[in-house]
Amino acid sequence: MVKILLVDDSRTVRLVGRRMMEKMGFEVLEAEHGEDALVVIGKHPDVTAILLDWNMPVMNGLDFLKALRALPLPKQPSVVMCTTENDMGHIMEAMDAGANEYIMKPFTEDIVRDKLEVVGIL
Ligand SMILES: [Mg+2]
Repeated sequence: MVKILLVDDSRTVRLVGRRMMEKMGFEVLEAEHGEDALVVIGKHPDVTAILLDWNMPVMNGLDFLKALRALPLPKQPSVVMCTTENDMGHIMEAMDAGANEYIMKPFTEDIVRDKLEVVGIL
């Protein structure tokens, strides 16, 4: 089963996102911040895609992305940044750091499906 990692400090967002993506047939892993996500990647280096929140305590999405892209993984996962209006100015920075796509929060099932198609997961 294709593994997707959902990284967000909001339990509600993780709950909603998990439901959406399980419905699409994915195995969904969760992390509540970047450091937590690095631990999950260590245990599951075969994660195919990551939905990544920007603003999180401990380690934010951008710092996680940079750390992820420096890891010697057999295959780097696709990363979709999940951003709010306030983060829009930073999107180029995230794309430069190796993000594949971004979506605006709050995301709907259709948007998530579209973006996973764009990055070639669906
Ligand atoms: Mg957040």
